[in-house]
Amino acid sequence: MTSEPGSLPGPEWETVCRICGHDDDPEPFWESGWPNEGAICPCCGNEPSMNDVSVVGLREKRGYWLGQGAPWDSPSFRPDDWAILEQVKHIPAEWR
Ligand SMILES: [Zn+2]
Repeated sequence: MTSEPGSLPGPEWETVCRICGHDDDPEPFWESGWPNEGAICPCCGNEPSMNDVSVVGLREKRGYWLGQGAPWDSPSFRPDDWAILEQVKHIPAEWR
């Protein structure tokens, strides 16, 4: 891991979940370059952390989650017309 002066581990502002593409939460997962502790994705249950900044690790988590049938971490947030294939399109290109 490079630690150049002024370099931050994450983006200034990111509300979309890197694992599942969920983006209905007004609270960001990443803010000012750091993971927003306590922001847990209601869909896949991912918590932003320094550990999900590798695309390989993300794909592993995503694959496991999908393999379980993509269960919602907070089922009460699940929209009736939820479409997983539409949602995963929102995953930022660099995390696909
Ligand atoms: Zn998610």
